Amino acid sequence: MKINQCFKENELVKSFEIFPHNNKLPFKSIIKVVADLVQYNPAFISVTCGASGYEQTTQTIDAASLIKNQFNTEVMVHLTCVAASQDKILGTLNAMKANDIENVLALKGDIPKDFNDEMKRDFYYGADLVDFIVKSKKNDFSIAAACYPEGHFETVSEEQDIEHLKNKVEKGVDFLVTQLFFDNNNYFSFHQKIRDKGIDTPVSIGLMPAVNAKLIKKIIGMCGAKIPSDLEKLLVKYEGDEPSMFAAGIDYACKQIEGLVAYGIEGLHIYSLNRPEVVNAIYKNMNW
Ligand code: FAD
Repeated sequence: MKINQCFKENELVKSFEIFPHNNKLPFKSIIKVVADLVQYNPAFISVTCGASGYEQTTQTIDAASLIKNQFNTEVMVHLTCVAASQDKILGTLNAMKANDIENVLALKGDIPKDFNDEMKRDFYYGADLVDFIVKSKKNDFSIAAACYPEGHFETVSEEQDIEHLKNKVEKGVDFLVTQLFFDNNNYFSFHQKIRDKGIDTPVSIGLMPAVNAKLIKKIIGMCGAKIPSDLEKLLVKYEGDEPSMFAAGIDYACKQIEGLVAYGIEGLHIYSLNRPEVVNAIYKNMNW
């Protein structure tokens, strides 16, 4: 099933994100994570991929196929393009189709260190990948793209960012998934601005529960999310106390969700960190 349909049929589309197996994480641990997560009946589970688009996407496809074909749960594959050729992307799309995977999150990915601006490439931005998928495989996939309520590290101005987002969406994006944020007000203001610009696709909120102080600090360093002072205090207070940080992080996430649901969000995409207990705690706390 194409995920764009879910937004037509549900008031709140709940979904989870996992990362695939790798050299340190065996496939059997992914099977366990997925088996636990599907019990919460998500609309879909998404699987992340390597940053540059030229690394192995096999693991992502294998994990996605497991979700779709062994656990009969809808799946979305993250696909990065910045260092990939059109042939490589086409090969991945064909592999997805062969595995009955119909949903793709089209992303730029990170520029590898050995790249320079003069290099001729097939893809520069997420919008180029959206365009390519639409032109080569229009009817095979529902296409999602990312958006950045607090800006992206390449953002020149918020106005330009939203202009680029509009351009990306108009190329054929069915719905958006946000970068993580911890201050709902920043999302509300961003959402109003994109609606004012005429971007009217559904938006799913990428929610990262701050259950591990060290990890959150690392992620913030990578994506530049802003930390409100109340969360900052929790991260300092519970840095060396994992169980307390877990409880405080879940509590913070649930308060964020309550505010977002009251605002009327269309989708909630929980970054599960491959820890089903995180989802379990949120669902319990929310009485879902
Ligand atoms: P783009 O849409 O390409 O935009 C990036 C920046 O470029 C923006 O500031 C935009 O304004 C600007 N821009 C766009 N078009 C133009 C233009 N024509 N001229 C000038 N500037 C322009 N990375 C991974 O490696 N693997 C993953 O699995 C993964 N999953 C993600 C999931 C989500 C929900 C999110 C939010 C991000 C994810 N990322 C992942 C990170 C993402 O790949 C990086 O943030 C990447 O740098 C941006 O990709 P994009 O397609 O979202 O951005």
